[in-house]
Amino acid sequence: MNTTTTALNLPGIHHVTAIAGDPKRNVDFYTRVLGLRLVKKTVNFDDPTTYHLYYGDSVGTPGSILTFFPWAGLRRGRPGNGQVYATAFSVAAGSLRFWEARLLTHGVTPSAQTNRFGEDVLAFTDPDGLILELVATTEADTRPAHTHPEIPAANAIRGFHGVTIAVIDAARTEKLLVGPMGYRTAQSAGGRTRYTTGAGGPGTYVDLLVDSSIPRGLQGAGTVHHLAFQTPDDASQDAARTTLLSLGYHVSPVMDRNYFHSIYYREPEGVLFEIATNPPGFAVDESVDTLGTALKLPAQYEAQRSAIEAALPKLT
Ligand code: ZN
Repeated sequence: MNTTTTALNLPGIHHVTAIAGDPKRNVDFYTRVLGLRLVKKTVNFDDPTTYHLYYGDSVGTPGSILTFFPWAGLRRGRPGNGQVYATAFSVAAGSLRFWEARLLTHGVTPSAQTNRFGEDVLAFTDPDGLILELVATTEADTRPAHTHPEIPAANAIRGFHGVTIAVIDAARTEKLLVGPMGYRTAQSAGGRTRYTTGAGGPGTYVDLLVDSSIPRGLQGAGTVHHLAFQTPDDASQDAARTTLLSLGYHVSPVMDRNYFHSIYYREPEGVLFEIATNPPGFAVDESVDTLGTALKLPAQYEAQRSAIEAALPKLT
């Protein structure tokens, strides 16, 4: 009897969602300093008095999307074990001196460059303390970057490189990744093991990091809320849900997030994982030219638009 489970169809990262403090400061940092595009300005579907802001490349391609739930005045959390500890963007090799200078100009002091698996890495934090990295990849990354007047196209962010998940013990998470989730080990050194999937390359990497100096993570501003993996369509998502349920995972029902459909489950070290469909994408309720300019509400909140708009802080 064949008891092998068919691997889930998860070609790479879809998005990373984090928690922020002041929403205007969040918009300024990601659009003006990092040069990402605000591709969607909507509300938290579970709490329409707060924003849900999406940043990405020009169209919000899966693998480029960093999203935030910003709550002004929220106390800071602490990045640590049981969380996505660091979120890394991909830039072309040779770009880090440009970014070092640009970050300093904007009052952000990055850490000294390090080298990880042969690639230079520049780490820094956003205004809420979220740990970000720029990886000067030596691999071909032909994904088009969003254009920004102060950032040469050759140096611009092309989407995610990958994420680092900090764990006390990597064994059970590794078993989930390389088992049902279809990932494979790419590299390993010094407590860090890198996994990749599908065609590989930037946008697919998940690193598990075991480091005794990292504390337990505490959720709050400046921490990642969840990590979403992409899946091609509703059918592949449904198959993934069935498989995860059969393995004993508590998986949410399918949630309609307007721009993708989502299911959620918690991996063994406590990180919230999501599987999000690539379609329909961010152009479903506004044109590509105007992405992110108007407040978009899901249908259930449209009747309350004026009250919601009045309650939300201004972003500009
Ligand atoms: Zn999500």
